[in-house]
Amino acid sequence: MQEVSLWRVLLGVEKSTVIEDIEYDPDDEIVVAHVRPSKRLKPRCGVCEHWCGRYDQGEGRRRWRALDLGSVEVWLEAAAPRVQCPEHGVTVAWVPWARHGAGHTRFFDEQVAWLATVSSKSAVLELMRIAWRTVGSIISRVWGDTEAEIDLFDGLTRIGVDEISYKKGHKYLTLVVDHDTGRLVWMAPGRDKATLRKFFDQLEASGAGRCARITHVTADGADWIGNVVSERCPQAVRCADPFHVVKWATDALDQVRREVWNDARRAARQEPKRGRGRPTADTPGRPATERAKGLKGARYSLWKNPENLTEQQSEKLAWIATTSPRLHRAYLLKEGLRVVFRLPLDEARVALNKWIGWARRCRIPAFVKLQKSIVKHQDQILAAIEHGLSNGRIESVNTKIRLITRMAFGFRSTDSLISLAMLTLGGHRPQLPGRT
Ligand SMILES: [Zn+2]
Repeated sequence: MQEVSLWRVLLGVEKSTVIEDIEYDPDDEIVVAHVRPSKRLKPRCGVCEHWCGRYDQGEGRRRWRALDLGSVEVWLEAAAPRVQCPEHGVTVAWVPWARHGAGHTRFFDEQVAWLATVSSKSAVLELMRIAWRTVGSIISRVWGDTEAEIDLFDGLTRIGVDEISYKKGHKYLTLVVDHDTGRLVWMAPGRDKATLRKFFDQLEASGAGRCARITHVTADGADWIGNVVSERCPQAVRCADPFHVVKWATDALDQVRREVWNDARRAARQEPKRGRGRPTADTPGRPATERAKGLKGARYSLWKNPENLTEQQSEKLAWIATTSPRLHRAYLLKEGLRVVFRLPLDEARVALNKWIGWARRCRIPAFVKLQKSIVKHQDQILAAIEHGLSNGRIESVNTKIRLITRMAFGFRSTDSLISLAMLTLGGHRPQLPGRT
C-alpha cells in the first residue's frame, strides 16, 4: 500500500483530499497532516456549496481537529482561501473534510454526536478532549445535516403535544411525539399558540394536506393547544393524555400531603419538650412529633403505584390510613383515577362518573378542584381510552427529555439542547464514522 493511501485511510479523508505532508510535533505531542482539496475540485462556497470564483487567500493556514490516532491527537492543516458567492458574498471556501465554520473534521463531529447520545457528559469530554460548549455546537451541526436529509413528518397521523420546562422552570419547550412510532418529531422553544402554529406550518410545508391527515391529538388539556389544534386540524379527535391526567391527581395529592404535614408540624411544635433520657411511664412520648416525622418520608409511598411498593412503603401506607384518614382518602382518589385508564371504555365511563361524584363530595379542596378539570375534559379522557392512546410513549419521551435538558445544561444555545433531543429520540441516531 502506498504511504499516501495508507494515511488517507488512517485520517478518514476521501480521495478528494490530497495529503501533502505529515509531521509529528514533539512539543505539543500532536500529529499534523498538511492537506488540500484536490485540484480537480472547483472552488465552492462554504455555505451553499455552489461553485464560485476565488476571492483571496483569506487569513492563511488553519487547523481542524481530527480523530486521535491511537493515543495521539491529530490535526489537519490547510490553506483557507475565500470565494465570492453571488448569494453569500465573500466566504471561506468549502473543504471536503469538514463542515463550514467547524474547527473539527466530519469524522470527529460524527463521533462526538454518537457519544453524546449514548454516554455521559464526562465520558464525552474526557475521551474527546473538548469543552462541553463545543459538544453543543457539534451536535447542532450534525443535527442540521441530518434534518436536511430526512422527512421527519412522514406518515404522521396520531400525535401527542406536550410541554416541558427547563432552566429551573424559567423556560419552556413545546414538543410533538408520534404515537405510532414513539419518535420525537418536533421541538421548539416557547409554549404558546404562536409556537404550536409553527409546527403545523412546517407540517403542511413538508407536504400539502398533511395537517388534514392527522387523526388524533393528545395533549395535557391546555387551552392554547386545544385552540390551535381545532384551528389547524379540526378533523382530529382530541384526547387528554392519561399521563397528564394522572399527574394532575398526583399534584393534588401532594398538595394534601403538604397541608397535612404542615398541620402535624404545627402540632408537634406545641408539644412539651422531652427531658433527657429515654421516655418512661412518667415522661410520655411525643405522638405529634412522631406523626410529623412519619409524614415527611411518606412522599414515595403515596406517589408510587401500589403494585410497585416495597414492604416498608406498604407499611407506611397502612400507617397513613390509621393516622391521617384525610390524606389516605386523597391517596385513594388518586389511585381511583389511575385505575379508570386501565378499564375498557364501557367500564371506564361508569367508573369515571362514579369518581367524579366521589371527588365532588370528598371535602378535600384540591380534589374538588381537580374534579372540575376532569368534568371539563371528560370527553377527551374517554376518547383517549376509546382510541387506545396509551400514555407510555409520551411519558417515556417526557422523562428522557428531562434527562437531556439536565445534560444540555452548559450548552450555549437552546438549539443545541433541541438538537441533542432530536438526535437521541427522533429515530435517526448518529452513526459512528466509517461504519456502514
Ligand atoms: Zn453561497
